[in-house]
Amino acid sequence: MHLMKKDFCKDVNCPSSEELFNFQAGQLNSSKVEELKNHISECDFCASEISLYTKLKRLEASRKKIAPMPLALFALAKAILSGYLERGILTQQLKS
Ligand SMILES: [Zn+2]
Repeated sequence: MHLMKKDFCKDVNCPSSEELFNFQAGQLNSSKVEELKNHISECDFCASEISLYTKLKRLEASRKKIAPMPLALFALAKAILSGYLERGILTQQLKS
């Protein structure tokens, strides 16, 4: 049967997903980091969970890279709107 697949799961020695996530995010103290490093080198499941978090982090990082563009557009829209407000155009439209 599929014994290989059944073995590919967490056991009692495995750290929690939260611990693995914090490890990947670099938010654990050094003794815990060493403990998890040792575990990951022996545990394929936790190692693949870590690589999943690494991929997610990269996705977030690439999203941040394209963030300045919408921000510039937002600033432009704000400048245009405040220009309208100064001239009383927008307030007139809101009243009618
Ligand atoms: Zn494990």
